[in-house]
Amino acid sequence: MNPLLERAKKVMPGGVSSPVRAFLAVGGDPPVIASARGAEIFDTNGRGYVDLVCSWGPLILGHAHPAVVEAVSKAARDGLSFGATCEREVLLAEAVLSRFPWANKIRFVSTGTEAVMSAVRLARGATGRSRIVKFDGCYHGHVDGLLVSGGSGLATLGTPASAGVPREYAELTEVLPLDDDAAAEALFARKGKEIAAVIIEPLPANSGLLVQRTAFLKKLRELCTAHGALLIFDEVISGLRVAPGGMSERLGITPDIVTLGKIVGGGMPVGAYLAKDEIMNFVAPLGCVYQAGTLSGNPVAMAAGLATLNELAKPGVYERLDATAAMLSRGMERALERYEVPATVARVGSILWLSLQAGAPPRSWGAVKQEGAKLYAAIHRNALSNGLWMAPSAFEVAFVSLAHGDAHVQAATLAFERAVAAAREQS
Ligand SMILES: *Cc1c(COP(=O)(O)O)cnc(C)c1O
Repeated sequence: MNPLLERAKKVMPGGVSSPVRAFLAVGGDPPVIASARGAEIFDTNGRGYVDLVCSWGPLILGHAHPAVVEAVSKAARDGLSFGATCEREVLLAEAVLSRFPWANKIRFVSTGTEAVMSAVRLARGATGRSRIVKFDGCYHGHVDGLLVSGGSGLATLGTPASAGVPREYAELTEVLPLDDDAAAEALFARKGKEIAAVIIEPLPANSGLLVQRTAFLKKLRELCTAHGALLIFDEVISGLRVAPGGMSERLGITPDIVTLGKIVGGGMPVGAYLAKDEIMNFVAPLGCVYQAGTLSGNPVAMAAGLATLNELAKPGVYERLDATAAMLSRGMERALERYEVPATVARVGSILWLSLQAGAPPRSWGAVKQEGAKLYAAIHRNALSNGLWMAPSAFEVAFVSLAHGDAHVQAATLAFERAVAAAREQS
């Protein structure tokens, strides 16, 4: 084993700062990373990989983009933290809000989890209600009240999905299946008056890529409006990625609150939530919902976000991301066909997911077949040894960045094909 990994395991649970990095779902020892540049990531043994994880989403420009590195270096020289409003913070607020024209104000925090936690508090404060609704298969960070899973079928009271989450707390969360209009209608008919907010990833991308019908998301919008509940779109992954204004822009559905993370910090720790004035004015110091942060609006992190958004404002950027991902997706599908693996690649813009089951990609977590995970583990292992860095879980998506050129896609496709062939032979 890599001696650094051994040392890591002695001093950090599982040797990691976030569980999926330990590779438990796919087996094998996770390489320790030394550096990364563009579309490639390098481990401490000097091995390079084409990176399809891209730090789990933030790096839409690729690793160490020169404009971001330059902006961060300059900001660092100007001071690492002020504990007061700074110019870069105002600029990033304006840049983000220009992409979400229906919203008036934004609050910066430091992670996606914190953005969601604050958005839920805001929704409760603004409505004076306690109950929240989430969907099975959606991930919203490790917020206590959202680390909750449901049963199968109709709406169920949440049960804690982690030790340490009190049952009493989880019971304030209702869990609904995705892609099920009738279940949502039935819940609102019974408890509509108690519901503060419905929170959903409008493009669920944390349990595979479970693309929702627009009509289903419209139904949620209608139910929330009719019952005085707020609709929260958790766009920590999809915001700024699938379109400048995220899924709300793509679908033409306006939520009440949007949460952001990942890309908005350009690789630095930033989260944010935004809404119209009538809701954001509840946030302290204007209103009664308390939320604060010593490092919120951090100038160096703001600089990284700002430089990233500047690059994303250039013409043709989203078209390029789409074309790159389409090419990769076609290459992967050809490899799967060639080795007769019943699978498809689900894709929206630059987000891809290998759905290792027959038929169209599923739209709900209940429809995701778990058996694919075993083959995925073998593909993952073989991909690594062929120089391809894939997510260490069958249910995590892949991302391409603007740094992924044709040569990277060709290398990735070839490595993937070899990995599928080897995995087929071994299983
Ligand atoms: C990553 C993610 C979060 C949590 O963000 P962190 O920065 O990891 O705390 C929340 N919601 C969604 C949809 C995410 O993908």
